[in-house]
Amino acid sequence: MSTTDTTTVAAYAAPAAKAPLERVTIPRRALGERDILIEIKYCGICHSDIHQVKEEWGEAPFPMVPGHEIAGLVAAVGAGVTRHQVGDRVGVGCFVDSCGTCENCVEGLEQFCLNGATGTYPIGPDGEPTYGGYSTHIVVTEDFALKIPEGISLEAAAPLLCAGITLYSPLKRWGAGPGKKVAIVGLGGLGHMGVKIAAAMGAEVTVLSQSLRKKDDGLKLGATHYHATGDPETFEKLAGTFDLIVSTVSANMDFDAYLGLLKTRGTMVNVGAPSEPTPINLFSIIGGDKTLAGSMVGGIPETQEMLDFCAEHGLGAEIEVISADRINEAYDRVLASDVRYRFVIDTATI
Ligand SMILES: [Zn+2]
Ligand SMILES: [Zn+2]
Repeated sequence: MSTTDTTTVAAYAAPAAKAPLERVTIPRRALGERDILIEIKYCGICHSDIHQVKEEWGEAPFPMVPGHEIAGLVAAVGAGVTRHQVGDRVGVGCFVDSCGTCENCVEGLEQFCLNGATGTYPIGPDGEPTYGGYSTHIVVTEDFALKIPEGISLEAAAPLLCAGITLYSPLKRWGAGPGKKVAIVGLGGLGHMGVKIAAAMGAEVTVLSQSLRKKDDGLKLGATHYHATGDPETFEKLAGTFDLIVSTVSANMDFDAYLGLLKTRGTMVNVGAPSEPTPINLFSIIGGDKTLAGSMVGGIPETQEMLDFCAEHGLGAEIEVISADRINEAYDRVLASDVRYRFVIDTATI
């Protein structure tokens, strides 16, 4: 394909809110001075893709091409590119640009750019639509493409760009490591990466899941303990146990009960959130000096650190590779929690 003009590439898009995805063609911009063209090989299906396509996070532009767990090869580079070469293995996560000069960008927290980071999809800060990774190619500025080390296959690496960094960042920040007891709430696409990463960091990992249905998986992924939150006894037995709890659950839950599982000065971090405000009794954190925190993906430097960490420890996502014509079926299966643990689209089938 030409790289000097806007080009047209194949993609899968939702033509309207809640509509099934279908094959379309979309424009990709001409290569700028510091842009790279990526031939996408694999793109993970994140639960947030489904929320966005269903317009559950507010009004969005359509047609929408979801996808922010992108892994592929550099196919062309702009004249001023220094970080990547043609043929390099690269990944793109949840955002593709930011101002680069504000306090947060300078700190490497591009996801919180004070001038607005550009999401991989569905929309940039200028109000123009942006198209994600359910596509054969994407053009991004070189600073927003991560290097995927040789130690991880591209298909297992793709989900790390969202699910991996979403869990790595809070585990790192709040000190998961040897001697620490960490609980991961929910064993889905996010939670299974949390178990793997926390275990690789050296923490003693417990899975807290609604039932014991996935117990064998949880233990295989690196957890030492597995408890059902559907059993009220769990909250009595485990009271005061954990240094850190990371919740990946987006349904409403009894936060006071979970905060009761923390040790003195323990921390509970939420990377999933219910759509409705949640009541909590602040005495649940005042007693015991506890912290209730949130976390949203991670910046570019930390995302690279996560990929390097995963390669060093031989970690990738547990995946089911699908052809593009099965995206709609995969969405239904994600909603039914019938995936272990991430669908990844083989973009050669688009
Ligand atoms: Zn995501
Ligand atoms: Zn900025």
